[in-house]
Amino acid sequence: MEPFYIKDLMCAVGGKFIKGNPGLPANGVSIDSRTIKKGEVYFAVRGARYDGHDFIKEAIDKGASAVVCSKDKIDFVKSFPDFVSIVKTNDTLISLGEFAKSYRTKFKNIKIAGVTGSNGKTTTKEILVSIFNRKGRTLSNEGNFNNRIGLPLSIFNLTSDIEYAVFEMGTSLRGEIKILSDISKPDAGIVTNVGFSHLETFVSPEGVFEEKKVLFDNVKETGFIVINNDDEFLRTVPRSVSRKIIAFALDTAADVCAKNIKLSPDKIDFEIFYKKTSVKVEMPAKGRFNVSNALAAAACAIGFGFSLDEIKCGIENFMLPKMRMKTLTTGTNVVLINDAYNANPSSMRKAIQAVLQSYDGKKINLVLGDMLELGNKSADYHFELGKFIKAQNISSVYLLGEMSFYTKEALNSKNVFYSKNSGALLAQLRQIHADDDCVFLFKASRSMKLEKIYAEFYNVL
Ligand code: ATP
Ligand code: MG
Repeated sequence: MEPFYIKDLMCAVGGKFIKGNPGLPANGVSIDSRTIKKGEVYFAVRGARYDGHDFIKEAIDKGASAVVCSKDKIDFVKSFPDFVSIVKTNDTLISLGEFAKSYRTKFKNIKIAGVTGSNGKTTTKEILVSIFNRKGRTLSNEGNFNNRIGLPLSIFNLTSDIEYAVFEMGTSLRGEIKILSDISKPDAGIVTNVGFSHLETFVSPEGVFEEKKVLFDNVKETGFIVINNDDEFLRTVPRSVSRKIIAFALDTAADVCAKNIKLSPDKIDFEIFYKKTSVKVEMPAKGRFNVSNALAAAACAIGFGFSLDEIKCGIENFMLPKMRMKTLTTGTNVVLINDAYNANPSSMRKAIQAVLQSYDGKKINLVLGDMLELGNKSADYHFELGKFIKAQNISSVYLLGEMSFYTKEALNSKNVFYSKNSGALLAQLRQIHADDDCVFLFKASRSMKLEKIYAEFYNVL
C-alpha cells in the first residue's frame, strides 16, 4: 500500500475524529492485531467469531498509527495514548470498503478486471493473472479473499508500479456484488456463469443471476463486459447495455470462441478464434468447463489489447489453484483427482462429466461429500445428483455426510457406499482393491474436508 494521511482516511470514511493527529502519515491497513505492523491503521471489524474491538489494545501496543472503531465502543478507546488517532464510524466494515473505494480511485491507469459467477472465479482469475503477467505487473486477491473484508484488503495492495489487477468477488448475501463492484470499479466485468450456488440466500439460479449481473452496471462506462453465451441466463443480458460487450462460447460462433476441443487426462487441446485469427492452445487442466474459464479470460484480455499469442502463452503457463482437479497417480497407476475445494449442484455435474470425458474407458469411481448452503431444498438437490450419477457410466460411489443420504437413496445400487462420518468412509475405501484401470474423483463442499480422506486414501494405495 502507498502511504496516506489519517485525514485522507477520515475524509473517505466520513468518520468523527476523536483524538490524535490527522496530519500524521500511515503506511497500511490491517484488521488483524496478530499481524499488524508499526504505522498501520487498525480497523476493528466484527466477524462471525471475533470482535476486532477486543484486540484494539494489542494493535496499539504493536504500533498502530490509528484505530477505526464503531460508535458504541468509543468510551472504551478514550483511555488509549494521545499519539494514536481514533476515528469513530457507525460501521467499521462499511468504512473499510469506503476507504478501499477511495484508495482505488488513486490508480486511474491500472486496468482492473472484476470476476464473479457461481463457479470458476478463482480459476479464471488465475488464468487472467498468468496472461496479464506477460505484459505487466499484475495484482490479484490472494487465494479466495473475495468478500467484504478480503476484497478491500486486496485493493490496499495496489501500488503505482502495478499495471493490471484481477479482483474476484464472491457473494453469499444479497447486495454484496453491488457493494464489492462499487468498491473495485473495474474496467472489465466477467460473470463466469450462473448456477446453483448459495441457494440458501438466492433460492434459485434466477436469484443468483439478479445478484451477479449487477457487476455489469458497476463496470466503468468506458470499460467492457464479458458475456458467456453458453449460459442460459447471461446470454439474455441485453446488447443495449451501455458497456461494450465481448461474448464467448464453446463450439459456436461468438466474438471469441473455442473449437476443436480435445480432452485428455493431463491437458485440454483447443483452438481459440477471434475475428479472422486463431491460435492452438494446450491447457494444463481437465474438463470443458475449464475451456470456458480460459475463454472468459481470453475475451477479457482481448478487450485489454492482448494478442492471441500472449493469451496462448498465459493459458499454457497457468497453474490450477489448490484442490481444483489436482491429479495424482499412485505407484500402481491408480488415478486420484482432488477437486475437494468446494461443491454445489452445478460444479458436481461438471466435474463428474470432466472425469468421464478425460478418462474414457477407465473405471470411474466417485468419493463425494455433502454440498452445503443449499437452503431448504438441499435434500432434493442431493437426490437429483443421485439421479444424474445413475445415468452416467460410474463404477462405484462412496458418499459422506447427512445430506448425501438422499444421493444414496436416488442411486439405490449395490455399488454405493454411504457413511455419516469420515472414519467409516475411510474404512470402506481401505477395502477397495484398486487397479490401474481405476480413477477416483473426490469432491465436496469445503467444510467436509474431503482432502483429508483423499490424502489418507493415497497413503494406503
Ligand atoms: P468459490 O465460490 O469457492 O470461490 P470459485 O467460483 O472461485 O469458487 P474455482 O475455485 O475456480 O471456483 O473452482 C471450484 C470448483 O468449481 C472447481 O474445482 C470445479 O469443480 C468447479 N468449476 C470451476 N470452473 C467451473 C465452471 N466454469 N463451470 C462449472 N464448474 C466449474
Ligand atoms: Mg474462489
